[in-house]
Amino acid sequence: MSDPSIPGPEELQRRLQAMLQSAFQQTDRPGEGQAAGEPENAAVADGDVFDFDLTPREIKAHLDRFVIKQDEAKKVLSVAVCDHYNHAKFLRGRERRGEVAPIEYAKQNVLVTGPTGVGKTYLVHHIAELIGVPFVKADATKFSETGYVGGDVEDLVRELVQKAGGDLTLAEHGIIYIDEVDKIATSSSLVGRDVSGRGVQTALLKLMEETEVPLRNPMDLAGQMQAVMAVQRGGKPGPQTINTRSILFVVSGAFPRLREIVEKRRHQARIGFGAPVPDEEDNPWQHDVTTADLVEYGMEAEFVGRLPVRVACDELTAPDLRRILTESEGSILRQYERSFLAFGIEAVFEDGAIDRIAGLAAEEKTGARGLLTVCERILRDFKFELPGSGATSLRVDAALIDRPAEVLAKLRADGCDERVRALRRTAEEFAARFEHTHGVALRFAPEALDALVDLAMERRQPMRELCADLFKDFEFGLRLLHRPPASGPVVLPREAVEQPDKFLSELVVRAYRSDSPDETTPDPAS
Ligand code: ADP
Repeated sequence: MSDPSIPGPEELQRRLQAMLQSAFQQTDRPGEGQAAGEPENAAVADGDVFDFDLTPREIKAHLDRFVIKQDEAKKVLSVAVCDHYNHAKFLRGRERRGEVAPIEYAKQNVLVTGPTGVGKTYLVHHIAELIGVPFVKADATKFSETGYVGGDVEDLVRELVQKAGGDLTLAEHGIIYIDEVDKIATSSSLVGRDVSGRGVQTALLKLMEETEVPLRNPMDLAGQMQAVMAVQRGGKPGPQTINTRSILFVVSGAFPRLREIVEKRRHQARIGFGAPVPDEEDNPWQHDVTTADLVEYGMEAEFVGRLPVRVACDELTAPDLRRILTESEGSILRQYERSFLAFGIEAVFEDGAIDRIAGLAAEEKTGARGLLTVCERILRDFKFELPGSGATSLRVDAALIDRPAEVLAKLRADGCDERVRALRRTAEEFAARFEHTHGVALRFAPEALDALVDLAMERRQPMRELCADLFKDFEFGLRLLHRPPASGPVVLPREAVEQPDKFLSELVVRAYRSDSPDETTPDPAS
């Protein structure tokens, strides 16, 4: 028996449609219902990838502005990127001319090896920015942990669409960067990871070759419904998938055991009868990695086979790190200067400090990331304490790097001195204004100024307000004294600050006593 409170299927569908319509009408992704190649988001597509006309040399020159060292990687990536985007342009031309005959092309996906923090991501990020294509980065390890390996890998492609503002053509020419691929190696020493590692490699392999990725994740029910609604609203059914043929893949990893493998191979070749083996001086091991070495490492042969372009990034030494600080347009010193300047503090990094920072960062063994770690550790307290302290400059020298706490304490004391000077000035201004307004010359004795400063700090009261409070009766009282200005200013001692009323009345009484012989002021006692 059917439950009367539950509507029939038609009514249910109608209600669902109404609900979805109101929920999604305003939130359709840009590009929805559009044919591919008609970017709606012109802001993202301003540098049309089909206008690509850079040379490898120009790309490298751009990278040189930001990335220090890694010349080999810069060259190799520049060439691969030019090949990739020139090929995309070529395909586009053929398409326009209606040529359909298949064409052979080996895609230039890249494998970048090298330790952490040496600029692998930074390089690719700047390339994507220069060309104007979307860039997505993920760690390969992320995929093995989810269980839904294939689905998640495809999310990378969908993320490109998002980054491209819904422009599918642009997304299909984006760059996907996958880090930590060494961690999905299927080595026997990594028990437990083998199965998922291989699974991820296979899933990535499919993407790197050519596949159609659904625009919407099959698990994303709302997204699926949204697509149906768009069509029902009369929109053109846009492409439902994204092709990965023209997406450039860059994968990277530190491959910590690779050195051992390469050296063992070289050693065996040396004692055998093979071709002469270059020694470490002529060709460092990291630039002599073969497919077989990577397969021995635990990478699937097919996976490595889809990464024909390979290059190694080198470790960064202390002098390299120094150059990053002084020469790279992305130097974190600029970042620190900007954040201090936001509080009106001009920070200047001296050479001695830069040497020290580079040296300490090299000890961290995390590449250029060490620079940030070191600067943050040393400058964190300065960033907290200096803003609002009245400081207008910060000289970062070797002493500050070596003994930050000591230097900060001294700056605090100096800042205190500066505050004291400012308070004294305000008190003196009060006295000057008093003379100007009331015609009675007033001065503070040095000890009175000290007492005023102490009191202002203790009460956290502005000096002008404090003086007005303390000396509110002095105008009347001092006028009673009838002292002509020529007789010199009234100098207020410490007691005048500590007990202003008592001081004033005693002053008046004393003045009356001393004046009484002249009878200029009637003595009430007489
Ligand atoms: P990884 O090699 O692990 O991918 P990244 O490229 O992410 O390291 O580097 C981290 C940060 O360190 C970058 O964002 C950049 O600021 C800085 N950096 C790393 N290497 C260099 C380099 N060679 N030149 C200039 N800055 C660098």
